[in-house]
Amino acid sequence: GAGLAVRDAVVRYTRPRDGLWRPARAGTTAVDHVWLEVDEGEIVALLGPSGCGKSSLLRAVAGLEPLAGGTVRWDDADLAGVPVHRRQFGLLFQDGQLFPHRDAGRNVAYGLEAQHVPAPERARRVAGLLDLVGLTGYERRRVATLSGGERQRVALARALAPSPRLLLLDEPLSALDRRLRERLAADVRRVLKETGTTALFVTHDHEEAFAVADRVGVMSDGRLLQVATPDELREKP
Ligand code: ADP
Ligand code: ADP
Repeated sequence: GAGLAVRDAVVRYTRPRDGLWRPARAGTTAVDHVWLEVDEGEIVALLGPSGCGKSSLLRAVAGLEPLAGGTVRWDDADLAGVPVHRRQFGLLFQDGQLFPHRDAGRNVAYGLEAQHVPAPERARRVAGLLDLVGLTGYERRRVATLSGGERQRVALARALAPSPRLLLLDEPLSALDRRLRERLAADVRRVLKETGTTALFVTHDHEEAFAVADRVGVMSDGRLLQVATPDELREKP
């Protein structure tokens, strides 16, 4: 079928990330035989406590972690061996990692320059993307002068600029305070729906997952326990 299909995925780390060998942590199975489908245009959240394997699953979909088992497919094509940049997926992390010395417009234009979109069209598309994320007229604003929420809005616009076929978001709002997070969660959903973007959204925050996603996958200890709509999950005792 169309969209993303994760089948029986396993991600293992053979050594702890700081390289210091501790018997209890050697050989972590971070993602334990996970099956997941995300249809085209759908937003799926991965929800669970820190360390349950959400990031590892997302990174495996991106091609940033190798699979120890299973497959990741897009439109029925196996992505094994397809490098990160060839997958045409967008990435957005907690710290949007903007270029601090470029203004907001040049940050958003970055992916379009790489695609050799001509300058006049680039300017039009940058303005449209800034509009979409609620930052009309911010082209010339330096990143250093923006608030945390504004920076993540710019980062979202930049991630969407090349029209990725799938957007992978890893705790994109977690560095923001609670009120801002609620507002941005609603805005992120609106922007993804208006652009028809398929998305996988990692978060440890229930309310955020419910506000953003069409369906929520609940993870625990490397396993995907269930995938259900926010309404279905709210009804559960
Ligand atoms: P993050 O940057 O992903 O928030 P943290 O340092 O907060 O990373 O740790 C996230 C998870 O990784 C926790 O479950 C923690 O116990 C685990 N962790 C941290 N350091 C190591 C390590 N060296 N080896 C294995 N697991 C680790
Ligand atoms: P989450 O995103 O849910 O916080 P992670 O995918 O970051 O979970 O981590 C899942 C497990 O894998 C944790 O036990 C963590 O310590 C371990 N882990 C994550 N990244 C690494 C790494 N680069 N090297 C070793 N262990 C890791």
